[in-house]
Amino acid sequence: MDSKKQTIGIMPFGEIPEIVPKIIAGNIIAYLNLLAEIIPPAENPDYALNGKRLQYDAGTILMNLESSCLNNYEKVIGVFDVDLFVPIFSYVFGEAKQGGKYALVSLFRLKNNPDGSITPSSIFYERAAKVALHELGHLYNLFHCEDKRCLMHFSGGLEDLDETPLYFCRYCTAFFKDALLR
Ligand SMILES: [Zn+2]
Ligand SMILES: [Zn+2]
Repeated sequence: MDSKKQTIGIMPFGEIPEIVPKIIAGNIIAYLNLLAEIIPPAENPDYALNGKRLQYDAGTILMNLESSCLNNYEKVIGVFDVDLFVPIFSYVFGEAKQGGKYALVSLFRLKNNPDGSITPSSIFYERAAKVALHELGHLYNLFHCEDKRCLMHFSGGLEDLDETPLYFCRYCTAFFKDALLR
């Protein structure tokens, strides 16, 4: 078996708490046995701001990232503080192209509870890790899982996300391992 581990780059954009990329990297290393590295921060993606929605277009950011040359990394997860959207949803916690190289995570909606009160930071960090690992799953071609006790279960809101565990079901774990060997 090839023992060369793949490296995942975690790339902060704009003003995000310094600890968040570290927590995401730590979770990738711990749960998936991959390498993870934090890439120097990039500027906020002002080019992707939609003036009508006052949100940032996830598709535009992904397209832009695809033309970057982050050749040292197998996959790259961008972490943003701005509110991301795709046309069919009012917002997204994260976005990735199935089987692609780049994924996005937005912290914007992870900081507060569904009732608007501020979330304790431990829960905020856990949510960020969940979204990042879920999107990374898509990059390794995992689809949404019907099992509610699986990280690949689709989360439509914070309540769903908080109920979702920080691990994959047996089926998705096996799929992930296979994908990593390819
Ligand atoms: Zn998903
Ligand atoms: Zn699953």
